[in-house]
Amino acid sequence: MAQTGVQPAIILRRIPFRDSSLVVSLFTQDHGVRAVMARGARKGSKTLPRGDLAGYHTLGVQLGGREGQNMLTLRSAEILQPRHGLLHQRVGSSAAQLMLEQVYRLLPVEDANPKLFGALQEALDRLEAGEAALEVVGLWQGFLLHNLGFGWQVAHCAGCGGETDLRFFSTKRNQTVCAPCGTPHRHRLLPLPEGVLAVMRGQPGGAADQAELVMLTTALLAQHGEKVLHAQQPFFRAVGLA
Ligand SMILES: [Zn+2]
Repeated sequence: MAQTGVQPAIILRRIPFRDSSLVVSLFTQDHGVRAVMARGARKGSKTLPRGDLAGYHTLGVQLGGREGQNMLTLRSAEILQPRHGLLHQRVGSSAAQLMLEQVYRLLPVEDANPKLFGALQEALDRLEAGEAALEVVGLWQGFLLHNLGFGWQVAHCAGCGGETDLRFFSTKRNQTVCAPCGTPHRHRLLPLPEGVLAVMRGQPGGAADQAELVMLTTALLAQHGEKVLHAQQPFFRAVGLA
């Protein structure tokens, strides 16, 4: 490509390069995650305003350069959907930071995933609006697991196949376990409050279940991630889970 049209993107990561440039990892709606060179971006310019490249906004970006040759260049960026408030919310920004790192670490490169892009935008919008970070992150992590193909089974017990009294969750089997089957092995299972099960089944859940859902989805994601995410502890501290 010589130059692309404007496409929606969210910046996942920024790494300083030489005196004034940045290597920016973008999550683009149409082409997935890709690293691009933003020349002179740390000084800022008319086409790459420094403020636009900071924060959690959805940007409209234009990329240039030849496909398959080195790294594409970020030609221009402008804010499509601003999220200025998030920068100044300690809890919200720690949640946003965690979600961005998850996309960066768990998604294959250059694999378009417009559904996940939409879910990320929605989650960032909810954080920007000041909604409970625990709930936003719990639902986001559940969506992420399903999107990556690690969705859970919550209809039957992994031991006996029964449908009642599902009180535990096996992260190994990625499935619910009933009380009679699970109680003898409870040290290896996660407790599964009724409200969390409801949320996992796509029903609305109560506030008390938000932390549980975050713990459970975090445990499941840890099985599929490379290592502990840098942004995890800051988020856990911000919401009082650590
Ligand atoms: Zn059972």
